[in-house]
Amino acid sequence: MYRSKTCGELRLADVNNEVTLAGWVARVRKMGGMTFIDLRDRYGITQLSFNQEVDHDLFEQANKLGREFVVQITGKVAERSSKNPNIPTGEIEIIVSQLKVLNQAKTPPFTIETDTDGGDDIRMKYRYLDLRRNVVRKNLELRHKMAFETRRYLDERGFLEVETPVLIGSTPEGARDFIVPSRMNQGEFYALPQSPQLFKQLLMVSGFDRYFQIVKCFRDEDLRADRQPEFTQIDCEMSFVQQDDVLNTFEGLTKHLFKTVIGIDLPDFPRMSYADAMKNYGSDKPDIRFGMKFVELKDLTEGHDFVVFDSAGYVGGICAEGCASYTRKQLDELTDFVKRPQIGAKGLIYVRYNEDGSLKSSVDKFYSEEDLRQWAERFGAKPGDLMLVLAGETEKTQKQLSELRLEMGSRLELRDKNNYKCLWVVDFPLLEKDEELNRFFAKHHPFTSPKPEDIPLLDSDPAAVRANAYDLVINGVEIGGGSIRIHNSDLQKKMFSVLGFTEERAQEQFGFLMNAFQYGAPPHGGIAFGLDRFVSIFAGLDSIRDCIAFPKNNAGRDVMIDAPARVEQEQLDELGILLAPQPRK
Ligand code: ASP
Repeated sequence: MYRSKTCGELRLADVNNEVTLAGWVARVRKMGGMTFIDLRDRYGITQLSFNQEVDHDLFEQANKLGREFVVQITGKVAERSSKNPNIPTGEIEIIVSQLKVLNQAKTPPFTIETDTDGGDDIRMKYRYLDLRRNVVRKNLELRHKMAFETRRYLDERGFLEVETPVLIGSTPEGARDFIVPSRMNQGEFYALPQSPQLFKQLLMVSGFDRYFQIVKCFRDEDLRADRQPEFTQIDCEMSFVQQDDVLNTFEGLTKHLFKTVIGIDLPDFPRMSYADAMKNYGSDKPDIRFGMKFVELKDLTEGHDFVVFDSAGYVGGICAEGCASYTRKQLDELTDFVKRPQIGAKGLIYVRYNEDGSLKSSVDKFYSEEDLRQWAERFGAKPGDLMLVLAGETEKTQKQLSELRLEMGSRLELRDKNNYKCLWVVDFPLLEKDEELNRFFAKHHPFTSPKPEDIPLLDSDPAAVRANAYDLVINGVEIGGGSIRIHNSDLQKKMFSVLGFTEERAQEQFGFLMNAFQYGAPPHGGIAFGLDRFVSIFAGLDSIRDCIAFPKNNAGRDVMIDAPARVEQEQLDELGILLAPQPRK
């Protein structure tokens, strides 16, 4: 028997019991004739004590232990004289009588502590050591709990978890695929799924009624803090449902997770149309922890010879409460912020509503105090507030204003991580035009159904067609999205033609789906949640990386196992792949 207890479970009630523990040496503290060791395992830390006077040999042995040695000890639980209120085992220690080294350890390249001295790169290279740290392990425990509670909730509602294949075919829509060469079919390739979309829809045709899967998906995109090339979705599909059925079921799942995992009771989620989200927040994933809604000023600003406003399609702003006292420096910072290339505004206009009731702006040359008072009224501003205004092409400017709004929200500390605000964004447009390519793309994916009342617009005004599509947004982060699907093969054909597919191409790529739809496809719809993002929201993390056991870095590399890597020429030969000569790295 390696151990009778774990390092996290002993309490005062265990005093005088003899126990055996096994774990890692987290810390050795030598204090004259006494040595104290923190022994760590997944469950916690227990203090071991060695007294030179009681057992000289054992004391010497303990002093020789290095950090991260794996040891087994036996001893008696005793009440500590100086207690540590910060850990659950802080009231006891073990008076060790036997010590056995199970394995030695090299000194780790960084300290295995909450506040480690290891930088990002080194921690990723030695991820197995990083995972020994409490803070990182806690995120994975949270992840497990969320996946477990998801399964419980969906199982109780009749959802079946079905595995769908990982080696599938490449499709032209959506993000870039990862492709896998086929040895048995040389010159042909599988693709890794970006989502099990088509399979889950086929399962509905099969009559499975309610499907889910916690599943790895793959997208070969440029990476950001909230993106990994492989990520996990809670993927779901339901038959005989309308939008409300899906929203209610998954609002229920979200509430269930908040309740069971972090003990929070959430009120019903508001629903906001995409059009309103864009108009009021300039974003399809607004952070509604704070207000600061956009206010449009175009009509009020016209006719004052201010070209910047007169030539702009959109003039709008936000009101930052209590910020009239911002210094020149602070205003310059905000101007620099919106002028950053990632945001791309040309400049920032401000109006101070001073405490004494006077109004002062950066465009006083063009607008009188009376004019500004009209603006202030529309903003609902009061003395002490600061109005920030941007102007330009409508969509671009709304996006810039959205960034500025988030920045002001952060500066004013209105974005508390522990305050959770969930929101459904609904009525997304069905299509999105790529102006350069002069063609439409599906905003969600080509299987999303248009709103029935908008179907006639497919020919006359495709951009105006709204979809039965929805996103779940939490604190400004898109956690999931889905739609009611097309289940009629003619409408699906029509959709492909609007997307610029010839009939042959559509048949070649998606023939199996349209065929399946001819064999009795039920009305159906579904949703997928990004598990990684969901966990990172619960964990209060800015990046999804720390809730993934073995993540990739921003260059898509696993620096621990050093992948991707070259393969032997023979492997390539077997696959019939000829590589252009490449410089050795
Ligand atoms: N497959 C979609 C996605 O990955 C989600 C859905 O429509 O269910 O975004």
